[in-house]
Amino acid sequence: MNNFTYYTPTKVVFGKDSELQLASLLEEFHCKKVLLHYGGGSAKRSGLLPRIENILSEANIGYVSLGGVKPNPRLSLVYEGIDLCRKENVDFILAVGGGSVIDSAKAIGYGLANEGDVWDFYKKVRMPNACMPIGCILTIAAAGSEMSNSSVITNEDGWLKRGCNTDYCRLKFAIMNPELTYTLPEYQTASGCVDIIMHTMERYFNQAENMELTDGISEALMRTVMENAKILKKDPTNYNARAEVMWASSLSHNGLTGCGTDGGDWASHQLEHELGGMFDVAHGAGLSAIWGSFARYVYKDNLLRFAKFAVKVHKIAASGKDLTSLPEEELDALALAGIKAMENFYHSIDMPTSLHELGVDVTDAQIEELAEKCSFHQTRTIGIVKKLDKADMIEIYKAAR
Ligand code: NAP
Ligand code: FE
Repeated sequence: MNNFTYYTPTKVVFGKDSELQLASLLEEFHCKKVLLHYGGGSAKRSGLLPRIENILSEANIGYVSLGGVKPNPRLSLVYEGIDLCRKENVDFILAVGGGSVIDSAKAIGYGLANEGDVWDFYKKVRMPNACMPIGCILTIAAAGSEMSNSSVITNEDGWLKRGCNTDYCRLKFAIMNPELTYTLPEYQTASGCVDIIMHTMERYFNQAENMELTDGISEALMRTVMENAKILKKDPTNYNARAEVMWASSLSHNGLTGCGTDGGDWASHQLEHELGGMFDVAHGAGLSAIWGSFARYVYKDNLLRFAKFAVKVHKIAASGKDLTSLPEEELDALALAGIKAMENFYHSIDMPTSLHELGVDVTDAQIEELAEKCSFHQTRTIGIVKKLDKADMIEIYKAAR
């Protein structure tokens, strides 16, 4: 097992009516004036936003509002948020929404707590050294941003989607009431489930040694989300299924499933970020569209791991318990069967397994541009199962068509 640091400072308040604890949580973190940050309208329509405004007013906590965060959150609104918070002396950011709103809140938090242009941190020309305190009321189980160290922002100038990862942006608290996710459209529920599974798979597909506990947690998490995603397709207001998926979203991206590994692969996420930046697709759907092609391209570089995935996650039978004693042809067949089973699951919840199914029919020139951007103009490789350069990225995007 590799050495690791596991840091999850976020206070999780989970369950029915948990949003009623908002005022006491804000008081605990010495908040005087809040930026109430939200998305395109779902929180207003569901009545959540007025309820929160009420809670704040009754507790005499001042606030200013900034809605309009789009999926694949934009840099221009981040700049607007930073200006507004400076003008209004805001000292705490409350994100009401999903990964997009939380990531936008994190970017505003970085912008407020550091000098200069916040995009520098996403371009990675320098790193932040602080962030304004943030809390959230989660309304979609998906990105796991509520407990992650990550923020992903899209710069409209060039449509670049880039991430910044530091512990400074970790949330002070995350309020998670599974009932708040009942109003999600089916597509967003399914797309969220893909993202949760993918955060686990990105860590699971590594080049580290096998681990009983970390691998076992990952396998259970993937199976749990698959089972409950299928329940939610038929029964979207099933509380326990919503709760399992919501808790999984946080655990899949708070570092737990990466403890002791080499950090994991993350190539599918990098390949998807370019799709999100250029074509504005839902993140989870973009991931399911690319993953099978990625997996078939790299699986021979860690055949055992892909075979283990087939056996432990998809319950595909192997001829012996000890996978290391199996002939290579059987491992190969198992690995491919596991990849196919994953794609079958994606289809079972109406998620795409190709770019065409995603609704994006890319030209050769667009694939060239995607790969040029993803390779940072040929200055980086991605992935750990197999290191992928621009030429590899082109092959994967082409296979995903
Ligand atoms: P999202 O983009 O925050 O929200 C997706 C859609 O769901 C929005 O249209 C939103 O509508 C709607 N929605 C949210 N809650 C709803 C509810 N309760 N009822 C009805 N509709 C609701 O989704 P996400 O998947 O959580 O976030 C995706 C973003 O996070 C991507 O940019 C992705 O790259 C990023 N990401 C971040 C991390 C991280 O650790 N920071 C990890 C993975 C992905 P409204 O706008 O109207 O609310
Ligand atoms: Fe993700």
